[in-house]
Amino acid sequence: MRIVRVVVAITAFGLVINVSTDTFGHDTHSHNPRRSADKYQADATSRSRMWTIKSLTGDHTPTMVKGTLLTADHDQVRLQTLDGRVISTSIKTLTAEDLKFVHQRQERMLELNTQPFVRLTAFQSKDNQGVANPPALANFFKPFAKTIRFHWDRDFLFVESTGMPDHPMMTGITAWQQQVPIPQAYTGNNAWKIPLHPVPAQNPMSTKEHFFRGAIALAVNGVPIFNPIKNNGKTDTLLAGELDRWGGHCGRADDYHYHIAPVHLEKIVGAGNPVAVALDGYAIYGYNDPNGKPPTDLDWLNGHKGPDGTYHYHATKTFPYLNGGFYGEVIELNGQVDPQPRAQGVRPHLPGLKGATIVGFEKQSANSYCVKYEVFGQPRSVQYSIGDNGVVTFTFVSEQGTTTETYSARRRGEGGGRRDTEAAPTQKQRGNKKQEEGWVTNDPIHMALDVNSDGKIDGSELRRIGVVLREFDSDRDGLVAVDEIRKSEHGGNEPQGGRGVRGPQSDNGPRQPWILVHATEIDLDKNGMISRNEIVGEAVHAFKGYDTNNDGQLNRSELDVRGGSRSAMGGFIKGHAKEIDRDLDGVVSRDEVVNNAERMFSKLDANSDDLITAEELESGRRN
Ligand SMILES: [Zn+2]
Ligand SMILES: [Zn+2]
Repeated sequence: MRIVRVVVAITAFGLVINVSTDTFGHDTHSHNPRRSADKYQADATSRSRMWTIKSLTGDHTPTMVKGTLLTADHDQVRLQTLDGRVISTSIKTLTAEDLKFVHQRQERMLELNTQPFVRLTAFQSKDNQGVANPPALANFFKPFAKTIRFHWDRDFLFVESTGMPDHPMMTGITAWQQQVPIPQAYTGNNAWKIPLHPVPAQNPMSTKEHFFRGAIALAVNGVPIFNPIKNNGKTDTLLAGELDRWGGHCGRADDYHYHIAPVHLEKIVGAGNPVAVALDGYAIYGYNDPNGKPPTDLDWLNGHKGPDGTYHYHATKTFPYLNGGFYGEVIELNGQVDPQPRAQGVRPHLPGLKGATIVGFEKQSANSYCVKYEVFGQPRSVQYSIGDNGVVTFTFVSEQGTTTETYSARRRGEGGGRRDTEAAPTQKQRGNKKQEEGWVTNDPIHMALDVNSDGKIDGSELRRIGVVLREFDSDRDGLVAVDEIRKSEHGGNEPQGGRGVRGPQSDNGPRQPWILVHATEIDLDKNGMISRNEIVGEAVHAFKGYDTNNDGQLNRSELDVRGGSRSAMGGFIKGHAKEIDRDLDGVVSRDEVVNNAERMFSKLDANSDDLITAEELESGRRN
């Protein structure tokens, strides 16, 4: 099934924007916006119906809500009640009848969403007045009309792109997550959607505290731009060496994106023209104004009003590098601007590669590329080709030989970063790498070592073998008996309750994934799902509880302080400090804690959509 990310009532969209954006951050996840309810009243009444929302948390009384369907994507619907409240709920909480209604509305909106194309050819039609001429915003994208497509309606400019720029990529990266640029399908209902009539926000939101996930702007060449601060809410991607010479790199879905304003595009668009548009609809210029002079009155969002009275942002050479927040109204949902297109991965995402520097990038043909890199000075490369059928073949060349991995076509609706389960990856081997068949194992030692669960034990994982074996030595006699392995708490490397930090589960039966055991504590907004932010937030919170000298790392004495961090996550960090300390330097850094939380999260987030649903949680249960 395709991801259907459609705004179900386009006319209502302006209203969603008007609803205070903290709506979705409240504990009750429903909240009364003080304005705009009146405007909406008529529309809401005309389409409102009674909804039955089932409980996912054992309390079996369903809630009845009278309201209108605002938006629906593949797993989430938003309803607006007659008094203007917006309720966000998982599609799994809906009855079959309500779900049928949602699907009917989606189909209808799919039809409606194709109409902007029709309007383009219907210039003379009276009811398309104001739509026939391209909006001024479209002109910014025109220099790239060969590689991107755009269309518009009264309210939005829709930009379709692959996210692949014309310039080379990757060279210059010194902190690399092993992802490579693969074209994305930001098309159709997954296109970029930029408001043509931006509305100044009453309380502009800063990118220092918000929007650590997803895009915050779109470059005029169709490449998304993410927050310069990484999704851990801390790392400046540019300063950390994560970006190439063009200010970009690839995400977990092998999706290329920038993290700073692509000022180099001025060479193509001409100095003094915008290089990007923020997702609130306001343009982003380079370092200078159209008059060639640098602005002198930038506000805290890196913006100001130009001579014509229109607000715009500027690039800067230091943080925030581009819009430092949104002057205009945007919706924040799960830590990102909503809605926005999704990237789709073809393979499980990879961990950072220590000692790697990317030294070259080649586009070998229309659909094949080669990234050349060095690891501690040793040359390696990954060459990859995308077939017409969407099959991507990767060939890794290193001093140890050559390995080929093939991943079948991405399928929309399944989320990114997922290995296709129907067509198992085929492996062709040369050189001395071991055949990688059967990557699922029940061997406790193997599972304990394989921290990233990719079925392989790589060099950095292998270096932990001493630590891991000592963990099995439950009677601390310096010997690891077979019995100790058998009854080990590991049962895999899934972060679990840990020694002395038992979660609320019975001592009989297999130990369950930590997230499963602690789901109710982590699910802060009580929406029956666990977001990446919730678990990372919990980890950061617990970390801070221990880090008494605020140096960003935890030593044993900080961890041993009585009281310390009293949450379940705090107990977990204390109990698993040795495993969390991936670089074995004897202290637990904030990044290590965050990465550990991310790994725990990714294991249960089967479709990589950054939400663990009740269903995903259940399917993580060990029997
Ligand atoms: Zn990034
Ligand atoms: Zn300016």
